[in-house]
Amino acid sequence: MEKQKTTNKRHLRNDIILVAVLLLFAIACGIYLFFFRATGDAVKVTVNGKPYATYSLSENREVNIYTGNNKQLNRLIVKDGKAFIETATCPDKICAEHRAIFRDGESIVCLPNRVVVTVIKSDKTDAPDAVT
Ligand SMILES: [Zn+2]
Repeated sequence: MEKQKTTNKRHLRNDIILVAVLLLFAIACGIYLFFFRATGDAVKVTVNGKPYATYSLSENREVNIYTGNNKQLNRLIVKDGKAFIETATCPDKICAEHRAIFRDGESIVCLPNRVVVTVIKSDKTDAPDAVT
């Protein structure tokens, strides 16, 4: 009985440590993003929380993102290293009014269509800032 208690306590302590570490990590990420927000090099699109596609910011393109049994549309434009929603079928049009995003971690969210466009920095690129 006594032994069981100790194990539970240790378990709880481990949980607290885990939460603290995660919290510290989140804060560190926040600080990092705040001070060192670099320009991203790609946009990640998720629909309904699931990965939809990733597009490089270095190539101009126009993508139609269909959602809700293809009834809803968000038209994503990538131009001059920036991404924005040109037009959307959602009622609020908040996503379409959002300014173009290009910094690492920036995102455009379309709540009605459940579309999220986030700028990411892909680690694969050796020299992302080297534009020739
Ligand atoms: Zn929208």
